Amino acid sequence: MTIHFPFDNTYARLGEAFHRPTMPTPVDAPMLLKLNRSLCEELGLDADALDTPEGAEILSGNRIPTGADPIAAAYAGHQFGHFVPQLGDGRAILVGEVLDRNGRRRDIQLKGSGPTAFSRSGDGRAALGPVLREYLVSEAMAALGIPTTRALAAVATGEPVFRETPLPGSILARVASSHVRVGTFQFFAARGDAAAIGRLADHVIERHYPEAASVSDRYRALLEGVSMRQAALVARWMQVGFVHGVMNTDNMSIAGETIDYGPCAFLDSYDPRTVFSSIDRQGRYAYGNQPAIASWNLARFAECLLPLLDPKEEKAIEIAQDVLAGFAGAFEAAYVDGFRAKLGPRTAQDDDAGLISDLLEVMAREKADFTATFRRLGQAAESSQADGSLQALFDDPTAYDRWAVRWRERLAAEPLDPGQRRTAMDAVNPAIIPRNHRVEEALAAALTGDMAPFERLNEALAKPFDDTPELAEYASLPPEPETPYRTFCGT
Ligand code: AMP
Ligand code: MG
Repeated sequence: MTIHFPFDNTYARLGEAFHRPTMPTPVDAPMLLKLNRSLCEELGLDADALDTPEGAEILSGNRIPTGADPIAAAYAGHQFGHFVPQLGDGRAILVGEVLDRNGRRRDIQLKGSGPTAFSRSGDGRAALGPVLREYLVSEAMAALGIPTTRALAAVATGEPVFRETPLPGSILARVASSHVRVGTFQFFAARGDAAAIGRLADHVIERHYPEAASVSDRYRALLEGVSMRQAALVARWMQVGFVHGVMNTDNMSIAGETIDYGPCAFLDSYDPRTVFSSIDRQGRYAYGNQPAIASWNLARFAECLLPLLDPKEEKAIEIAQDVLAGFAGAFEAAYVDGFRAKLGPRTAQDDDAGLISDLLEVMAREKADFTATFRRLGQAAESSQADGSLQALFDDPTAYDRWAVRWRERLAAEPLDPGQRRTAMDAVNPAIIPRNHRVEEALAAALTGDMAPFERLNEALAKPFDDTPELAEYASLPPEPETPYRTFCGT
């Protein structure tokens, strides 16, 4: 049986400056650990056919499906502020692009598929833990309605990878609108290759920003489009307590999707200074810094576009600055709109930003759990009888009471049936997020060969806004941690 993939590989056709043709390195004993059946359906792939040993061969890179054109993409990037002129796909191979059932172009990439020309000293492989972590968290983000790369499958390779200790190897089949990054543009800018930047920009406009194609200053429109999508994206991260953890420019997608789930994690108790990544010692990528870092990364993107914005550098800089200046306002608007909805009001008022920041300030001081606080506000909006469950989240419960007086006045000024209000709030305040202790529990069990906790957690994360009793354990608070939660880059 041949498994059909509807490939149409435009990035591979951009030419040799953009990538190196690269075959995945076969693995010993590929075994499918998890297949995303609904994503298969969306992509027009036959899930039953993929859920077979032959499917595992394909999803591990052992067998290349007809029409694939496997490449490792070139890119550069600022890592923790330091420019690295050549990074590239060191352990990932873009197998090809398919047009999904809605006619959207989607990349299929294998991560952990063996060395490439860009591997430097790395082995090109991935360990089971980080692969399953990316699977869970990226699918959780999708279920939360946040733009993200998706997980199509996780495959065990049957080979060890050597980190500090030997670990089981794994490959993630990842789906993205594209894998073009800010760092892709930087790769060519660093080489002074303006022609390649033009080709890449046109590719991106056609693929992700078609509305920019018809205006006279199309590259300005591209910069604007990328900037607006990042503003909206990071606002969404903030509204679910997501910390990306490694917002290097090579990990910022031009399409505006969350990409690269290395050391990411969600806040438990709210503190804007939260950093999970073990290597982020300065807190560069702390929760509260994410908007500023997105803006910084966009400035690096704008620098790459300068030659396209205007032949006169001075004029080009003026255009770039003008567009970049719009980021802060767009972010703030998306941020306040999203948090307002989380608090319940439907119409904007002048002091909304204050009501939001005051709550967050109290939450930080009183170490309130981020997800539970907002979820329980929906119940409290319906009936003040729920106040006790909120007070319990704050070290000093009266701090909540003081804020809630103002909040209730605000809600009262905008009459709405309390049940309706709660329903609307429950639709934006998730009950279930990938809690760190749950993720760790699922990964630890998977390492012993037990995928059941992973499966259950994955299922719960698919319904983040549901309050069903069967899922209650995933909505409950984490145990008091003995040490702060730490994550590691997924290498
Ligand atoms: P990341 O931190 O995952 O965004 O990766 C940064 C860079 O390191 C990218 O160029 C990756 O391809 C490369 N890289 C990460 N892990 C490995 C590995 N195990 N083998 C080869 N390259 C790697
Ligand atoms: Mg990366």
